Amino acid sequence: MIVDVHNHYYPPRYMEELARGRSSVTVTVGDDGDPRLHYPGDYNIAVRGHRDIEYREHVLEAEGVDLQVLSLTTPGTHVEAPARAVELARLVNDEFAQAAGERRRFAAYATLPLNDPAASVRELERALGELRLPGAMLFSNVNGVPLHDERYEPLWEAADQLGAVLHIHPTNPGSVEGMRDYWLMPLVGFLFDSTLAAAGLVFAGVPRRYPRIRWVLSHLGGAIPYMAERLDRGFHAFAECRRHIDAPPSDYLRDFYFDTVSFDPRALRLAVDFAGAGHVLAGSDYPHQIGSITGMKESLAALQVSDAERAAIRGGNALELLGLAPAGA
Ligand SMILES: [Zn+2]
Repeated sequence: MIVDVHNHYYPPRYMEELARGRSSVTVTVGDDGDPRLHYPGDYNIAVRGHRDIEYREHVLEAEGVDLQVLSLTTPGTHVEAPARAVELARLVNDEFAQAAGERRRFAAYATLPLNDPAASVRELERALGELRLPGAMLFSNVNGVPLHDERYEPLWEAADQLGAVLHIHPTNPGSVEGMRDYWLMPLVGFLFDSTLAAAGLVFAGVPRRYPRIRWVLSHLGGAIPYMAERLDRGFHAFAECRRHIDAPPSDYLRDFYFDTVSFDPRALRLAVDFAGAGHVLAGSDYPHQIGSITGMKESLAALQVSDAERAAIRGGNALELLGLAPAGA
């Protein structure tokens, strides 16, 4: 039994509304005949599977996928003026409910007019109640407003009452405004900025053109070891990602070094699996409040590697990389 919880569908009536121009999303049609949905910072190509539920049903049958939980994807309805967002969210959810009601291979997450929190509460209640949808998809920020903003408290209250499933989907990243609370800037923003920096350098071909530079990434490379496979998929999918490099990004990223300032032995193990024990360097972030020499030592002691690899990570790799002599030698 395969149930696919992350996939996207633009219902026909939604596409018609956009094409009519009553939306802040601009639609153009490409040479391939597929519509493009343009919104600030990005666009989506709506291929047949995005738009044609019957075709999609055949694809799922051929692929052996028993059930897909449909959701709308970016840009979402919250990029519209609030009143229009409410109308479009209702329309989309009606179409979702209809598809799910008529075809056994589909269920759907509700979409919500997130730029109108009060209306989002009403739509959540309608979608999970009257329309019997099993949950809702949220976006990771709403026109730059973080989900932890207090305006969403009533939505969480309502969702809690319903025992709702809320699936958070990414969208254009918010600005630093959304990272001001809870130290989110250094806890999360810094790591994603490292990830962006490394990915950008690799796609721009900088490590390819200057192969003698040895790069070191902080904090286990942000999310690089965890998501390098997605960068490789981008390389295969988009011509722009192949313009400056002739091998998948992970080939270059594996040559980077990764410091261990992220003290979870399992995350460390992933970095070792990704880049090899010879490319992992001990680090503590001492004396920051969030740094820890103890954390560094304990996580390296718990890391599942051979003793020789552990010694290399603890110090041997750094000595070699930086051309340093061992202390006392
Ligand atoms: Zn998605």
